[in-house]
Amino acid sequence: MDKNIQIEKINGKFKDKDIISLDQFTPKDINILFALTKKMKKIAVNSRAEIVDPQHFSSVSKGESLEDTIRVFEAYCNAIVIRHPVVGTAQKAADIASFVPVINAGDGIGDHPTQGLLDLATIYEKHKRLDNLIMVAAGDILNGRTIRSCMKGLSLYPNNTIYLLSPKELRMTRESFEYYTKRGLKLFEIESEKDIPKNADVWYWTRVQKERFENLKDYEKVKNKFVLTKKLLDTTGGKQTIVMHPLPRVGEITTDVDDDPRAQYLRSQVRNGMYIRMALLALVLGKTK
Ligand code: ASP
Repeated sequence: MDKNIQIEKINGKFKDKDIISLDQFTPKDINILFALTKKMKKIAVNSRAEIVDPQHFSSVSKGESLEDTIRVFEAYCNAIVIRHPVVGTAQKAADIASFVPVINAGDGIGDHPTQGLLDLATIYEKHKRLDNLIMVAAGDILNGRTIRSCMKGLSLYPNNTIYLLSPKELRMTRESFEYYTKRGLKLFEIESEKDIPKNADVWYWTRVQKERFENLKDYEKVKNKFVLTKKLLDTTGGKQTIVMHPLPRVGEITTDVDDDPRAQYLRSQVRNGMYIRMALLALVLGKTK
């Protein structure tokens, strides 16, 4: 999962490309996307996309193969955005689809590139840089795809440090730890709020991914071990610390944090999700004019 996979790099050309992982991007590509995202902010979005849930509105429930489903879908759309519980399915879909680009909207505990990109956009908007950052990533580091996609993005820039706060059971695998270290991130694993550095630029909180547990008791043991409260933010966060969360939250950030101006998860982070995805779709469809 966290290893360099062979996917076509963007290299400044988005048109017709599948978007499977942050691995495909360079800082230059991210700049191109951010520039268009800025334009998207100005466009009033009134048109509605039609979303099809293959599980309920297609023949998947009758046992149709992924291969056939993707072929049918590409016959009547311009791009396929796929979310699937199994790692690697977006890549498989991209291999099957020959006429339209495929965008990975989350494959199991694998990747979530559009979330990673919108997270980078949010950090950039608030801090005006994507290097020399200190981030605290908390929650389910093992199963949460968004933290790892965001880390892939941050590893494209120099001198970023990430403190990983999680119960021991939810630490990333040693293989992943090595992978991100090799990509240039400085990683520190911590197990207590007391070890959160005072000068962090970003707090990225996540929920424990209940659906990844075989045994509910194991989930109950670790859920909400680290809850971000207003008190914790005021005592341990800095003035510049921004609070992010990919949503949905299920208790790991108390609602008294929501009105703090440092909280971005119900504000710019969500909005940037819309703009980044509009820009990415426009780029892969070649409709940027
Ligand atoms: N919405 C995010 C995702 O799709 C985070 C989450 O589900 O916890 O991965």
